[in-house]
This record gives sequence, structure tokens and C-alpha cells, in this order.
Amino acid sequence: MDIARFTVASALKALDAGEVSSRELTQGVIDAIDAKDAEIGAYLTFDRESALRQADEADAARAAGKRGALLGVPVAIKDLINVAGQPCTCASKILEGYVSPYDATVSARLRSAGAIFAGRVNMDEFAMGSSTENSAFKTTRNPHDTSRVPGGSSGGSAAAVAGGMAICALGTDTGGSIRQPASFCGIVGFKPTYGRVSRYGVTAFASSLDQVGPMTRDVTDAALLMNVLAGCDEHDGTTADVPVPDFAAALDGASLKGVRIGLPKEYFVDGTDPQVSSIVRSAIDRCAAAGAELVEVSLPHTEYAMAVYYIVAPAEASANLARFDGVRYGHRTGKPEDVYSLYAKSRAEGFGAEVKRRIILGTYVLSSGYYDAYYGRAQKVRTLIRRDFEDAFTKVDALLTPVAPTPAFKVGELQDPLSMYLNDLFTIPASLAGLPAISVPAGKTAEGLPVGVQFIGAPFADAKVLSCAKAFEAA
Ligand code: GLN
Repeated sequence: MDIARFTVASALKALDAGEVSSRELTQGVIDAIDAKDAEIGAYLTFDRESALRQADEADAARAAGKRGALLGVPVAIKDLINVAGQPCTCASKILEGYVSPYDATVSARLRSAGAIFAGRVNMDEFAMGSSTENSAFKTTRNPHDTSRVPGGSSGGSAAAVAGGMAICALGTDTGGSIRQPASFCGIVGFKPTYGRVSRYGVTAFASSLDQVGPMTRDVTDAALLMNVLAGCDEHDGTTADVPVPDFAAALDGASLKGVRIGLPKEYFVDGTDPQVSSIVRSAIDRCAAAGAELVEVSLPHTEYAMAVYYIVAPAEASANLARFDGVRYGHRTGKPEDVYSLYAKSRAEGFGAEVKRRIILGTYVLSSGYYDAYYGRAQKVRTLIRRDFEDAFTKVDALLTPVAPTPAFKVGELQDPLSMYLNDLFTIPASLAGLPAISVPAGKTAEGLPVGVQFIGAPFADAKVLSCAKAFEAA
């Protein structure tokens, strides 16, 4: 059973036709992990007994005539999404041993669609990073070249799918964490519009930015997963009460003919790897050949996006991570002298260096005396960035840009946090504006490293973004 040859769509078809059982698919995932994951390191944990039991239940349900949008399909889950009865460590020592007492809304939705929870995949600790090197437990490697990173923070999700050890996975994206690893690993990664998918039960990094999304082999699979994930949720007040289209049906007849594709000039600048530039250029040519109308646009506040993000995201993270205090859950220090040292030591022992850096940065920009100078101003500039996009979307249907300035870099290559942060230059602006954005494979470098391109859409134009990506994929 070679899992690598299945998409979600083809697995569902084979299950429907009785050509394969959910047990065989799930066992195929387990066998692939046994064969390959010692080298790749995509998975943190995999409860085989539970996965096979779920698969048997799905097979029995199918035999009894039941159907479900994902009935019997195994899905790998990024280790910050709660699934009842499974570990949820966020790749942090502070949550080592923690077992979720409840399902996140996205997990409950997968469960009622009949999906199999097939393993917890690695990530940067609390989703802070761009390489999956910040995991407290292990470094995940890129299946295309194991001396390189898979990207991050959803690097485990991307490596599991690209390495043929998962059919599909969930990731989360705060500033690029679905799109950049998708680009590095040669798969599809979709970040929905902010408010499209519930964050309830998804461990918060930066609440005004975080979104869950699919990481898949192709665009159709991303749409199939979106059909299950999307929707308003009474447990998350930031989910939008807007109609949810059938994302998969919206791909029928997807075409770029007459679609106005904007090329923001601020995204086509020096500093991008020349091979990435030329792959993106040829992607643009393919869109034109498929009938798209190319329009140069300007997003003048792009240059401030990085600075704004590294104020807003750490500010929110510092507040969200206050709950890890050694009292309520997770790691507790051995011998505290008093309650203050209980908090301080538990946190000092439990959090890694990057998480501490973000907390310190976040509490600083929120502190009295600095709040107006940093956080207040960053929020204002964030509005300007959002308006840039609003203006652009009066002229174009979607934007096309690079995903990341480089292909996958080497494990250990980026030691300086700032150069790591700069890898998200092209993904962060859409996150700040809450826009739907997708990374689709566009080509490979001479060394065989995958490179994606990004389509960005207007708020709630998720179906449009998916259909542009589908048409591009076909072209
Ligand atoms: N790399 C960015 C960061 O470290 C984005 C991470 C993410 O999207 N979760 O914050």
C-alpha cells in the first residue's frame, strides 16, 4: 500500500469503490512512517491502536451504507490542535505529557466527517519559527533533501505529506507557517481568510492572525478539506457568519481566462534568490498563456509589514502564553521556594529560546511608556497595509507573488533570528490583512528543490483563490 500515490480525492474514490479499506490506508501510513520517519522526523507521536480502531469503525460505517466527506481518510494533525484523548504539546517541553480533554472545533468537524486522526506532527515550538528547528523534541528534515529544513512552523505537516507518510495534514498559519513549508516541500498549503475557520481548541500564538488550513498534494484536496473545516463557530467569536460555499464544486471549470492577476511591484525586488525569481517569472508567463490579464499593482506599505508583525505577534503571544504558569497544566518546576519562583522557574525550564524571545519582546512593546510608541503605532500601520490590499482588489481579482525569497535552506544555516524572520517577508502582509492565500508548487531549482507561488485573494474570496490555484496547477 503506497500512501504516496493517494490524494484525498483518490482515496475517497477507492474507498467508495471498495478497492481499499480505511484500515489498509491507515496501515499504509504506519508502514511509511516505519520505513521513512527515522530519517525525516515528521511525527512526534502516532497512536497506532487508536488510528487502526478508528479505521475499523470507518470501514464498518461504510459497510453499513454510511458516507462522510472524509469517511476513512487518515489526516495528520499539527501538534497544537486539540484532539480529545491525544497529546498536544505544541512541540514544547512545557506541555510534555499533556493530553487534550476535548476536541478543537476543527477536530470535531473532521471527526463528524469520518476522518481518522493519524498522528501528531512536529512544528516549531508554539508555531514560532520558519524551519521546524525550534521544536523542543526534534528537527524535521525536508524529504527532497534531508540536509535541508522543511520550512516552518508547520514543517512536520509538510514533510509528512511530501514524504509520502500522510495523505493530507492540517497546519496553522500566523505569518506564513502553512504557505512557506508548502513551498519548501512542493505541496499545496492554503491559509483561509481570517474568520473562515474556527480557532477554538487551537493553541493560540497570535489570536488576530492564527488560522488553521489544509496541507495537501493538490488544490482539489485543499478544497475538500476546506468543505469540512470552514464555518461559523459559537465557540470562536472571530469566526464570520458568512455563507460557506462548496469549495470543491467551485473548482469545476476553473480557468484563468480573463482573470485579472495583480503583480505587486514591492514583491519583485532584489534579494530574492535568482532561481526563485525565474520560477516565479515562468509561473507568471504560464498564467498569461492561460488567458490571465496581468496588472502591475503597488502595495506601498509592504516594507513595514515585517516590523508590524514582530510587534503585534509577540504582543499577542506574550498574553496568550501567560497561561503556562506551572499551575494549570504542563511542566511544573521541582522545588519552588514560593509562588513567584514556581511561575518563573516553570517557565524558564519549559519554554525554549525563541519563545522566551517573543515573550520578552511582547511584554516590552505592551508595557506602559512603550505601548503607544510600538503597539499602538503598529496597529495603525496594520490598517494601512490592509488598505493597500483593499485598493489593489478594486483593480484585480487576485495577486500573484513569490512565497518565500529562497528555496529550503540547510539545517543550521540560519542562526540569526532576524534572517530567519526575513524568510516570511512575502507571506506576512496577507496575514496582517487577514486575506486568503495559497502556496502552489511552481517548479524546482537546479538542485531539485521545490518552489511555490502564492495567490492572494480579497477577504472571503477563498473559493476564488482556490480556483486560480487549480487553474494554475492544471496549466
Ligand atoms: N515564521 C513566523 C514566526 O515565526 C510565522 C510563524 C507562523 O505562521 N506560525 O512567527
